[in-house]
Amino acid sequence: MAKKQYAVIGMGRFGSSVAQELSDLGFEVLAIDVSEQKIQEASNWVTHAVAVDSTDEEALRSLGLRNFDVVVVAIGEDIQASILTTLILKELGVPELIVKAQNELHGKVLNKIGADKVVFPERDMGLRVAHHLISPNILEYIELSNDYSIVEMKAPDFTIGRNLMQLDIRARFKCNVLAIKKGTEMNIAPSAENVIQEDDVLVIVGKTEDLSELELVYAEG
Ligand code: ATP
Repeated sequence: MAKKQYAVIGMGRFGSSVAQELSDLGFEVLAIDVSEQKIQEASNWVTHAVAVDSTDEEALRSLGLRNFDVVVVAIGEDIQASILTTLILKELGVPELIVKAQNELHGKVLNKIGADKVVFPERDMGLRVAHHLISPNILEYIELSNDYSIVEMKAPDFTIGRNLMQLDIRARFKCNVLAIKKGTEMNIAPSAENVIQEDDVLVIVGKTEDLSELELVYAEG
């Protein structure tokens, strides 16, 4: 199977790290930015880099962007340019369109005009840092939807040596332990008899409000 081809528009901090990582992973990446200087920098680490204003429909068409599997729009500050670019790419028939949003309203517009996925990198990282601050046990925090999230937490002291039945997380917090990580091993179907050991990491899914309660209780010990 041919490797997927990616285009990333906007070589700010977010766009350039997406492009660079894809390139490091061995994928072909076309980097696009209106700034010649950004394109010169990007050409050091991506397959192709072109200086183009992405609100110019003809220019985007001539780049053949509809033949790319995924296009990432990473223009932040100029919301109008981000929306126009998304509209043009949608009309060109790009198979998968991922767009960075600056705020909730921008995100809503992007969803309405057909972005396949809208990402909020600053907001998401802010959430993660906040959860890590509440409890250093929280290693990872992922919002699944408006109501549901997943947290990855270091097993707190009071859970060690007890099994999942004794901890009764489902009844106490209405959350489910999806998996238990032990070093590099991952048990993705933990049973009620599974005893938590020191340095285990618990992966828990639940309603965001229930998870917050669990995090607070776990933060205490
Ligand atoms: P980050 O936080 O990721 O650094 P940002 O959200 O602040 O970025 P900007 O710096 O506004 O976003 O934009 C990212 C890049 O997008 C910039 O390098 C800018 O030159 C480029 N850009 C802005 N408008 C266009 C456009 N119309 N066509 C192509 N590139 C554009």
